[in-house]
Amino acid sequence: MKKIAILGSTGSIGKSALELFDGPLSDYRAVALSANDNVKEMISQAKKYKPKYVAMLNAGAARYLRGKLKGVKVLSGIEGLIKLAVLKEADVVLLSVVGAVGMVPLLSAIRKGKTIALANKEALIIAGELIKKEAKKHKAVILPVDSEHNAVFQAMQGNKKEYIKKLIITASGGPLKNTPFENFSKISVEQALAHPTWKMGKKITIDSSTLMNKGLEVIEAHYLFDIPFEKIEVVIHPQSIVHSLVEYIDGSVIAQLSNPDMKLPIMYALTYPERRRGVVKPLDLAKAGRLDFCPVDFSKFKAFSIALKAGKAGGTMPACMNAANETAVHAFLEKRITFDKITEVVEKTVSLHKNIKNPSLEQILKTDLLSRQAAQEIING
Ligand code: MG
Repeated sequence: MKKIAILGSTGSIGKSALELFDGPLSDYRAVALSANDNVKEMISQAKKYKPKYVAMLNAGAARYLRGKLKGVKVLSGIEGLIKLAVLKEADVVLLSVVGAVGMVPLLSAIRKGKTIALANKEALIIAGELIKKEAKKHKAVILPVDSEHNAVFQAMQGNKKEYIKKLIITASGGPLKNTPFENFSKISVEQALAHPTWKMGKKITIDSSTLMNKGLEVIEAHYLFDIPFEKIEVVIHPQSIVHSLVEYIDGSVIAQLSNPDMKLPIMYALTYPERRRGVVKPLDLAKAGRLDFCPVDFSKFKAFSIALKAGKAGGTMPACMNAANETAVHAFLEKRITFDKITEVVEKTVSLHKNIKNPSLEQILKTDLLSRQAAQEIING
């Protein structure tokens, strides 16, 4: 039996994790759950999974739940999330909140030497250098939930790191793979959310349609596996069956394959180093028929290159880029800007930022805040 604290239990990853507790992980227990402000979903989750602790980022939501959930300790705000991240009772912290708000809880868990199943890539993007340093110092373990990174992690088992020649991260290409760039200003929210292969939350689905997500994932891989940017490649693979590959110095390429279903990487991160009988539809290669691969169209998906450049610059640049992107995606989802403007807002915000090398936590948080304001100003015109 393992006790899990789920930060972000009402989102797509959190819900999938809890569904695993109904099936192959029926001996696992959700000792703590957290959400932003979705009280309805949290009440039903708390009734079913009986956590000891619940934390709501939104203080009003926490107050409301205190009257509703008897026998549950209800915490509130970022302090509440941090308390759950360092909970003594939890064997694994599943960090599946969306966006930069996950960074301080992640750092707190790391500083307590916790084992973290990491689904929140933004935290690692904005504070990668700091997180890597602290994880080493406190011997914290970060297990990747992101499907590509989980695939790389699986393909690395039993091999020494010095034998790795490069990582090959696959990308489905998103819903706009075949849409000409000229039409990007007319893309509706519904079109951008219609991902062809993966069922995910809204923020990451929009990031997939701009290919920002893949840029973020290269930075994520760089920090998770301590591999230089030059040794990380991206290839478009529309079927989303090969989740990523590792090429070794002898020319061997090891891949992890499965039908696309986030429950598989979530489960591997939670059960590692063990495996459990899965819930993913078995892969029938003859039925799949073909697996296609092609290069990324960098001229069409500029967000990818912008993210990568920010990642390579390091310092506070990735935090600025990420904050601008979160702000722009939010504005697009609220129909305040057109689809093509998401990348433009990020590009402009990044161009105005003065990079700070080896930033402190305070400098990263300040960059995050100021970059959101700068992006908002650009959006407002
Ligand atoms: Mg991914």
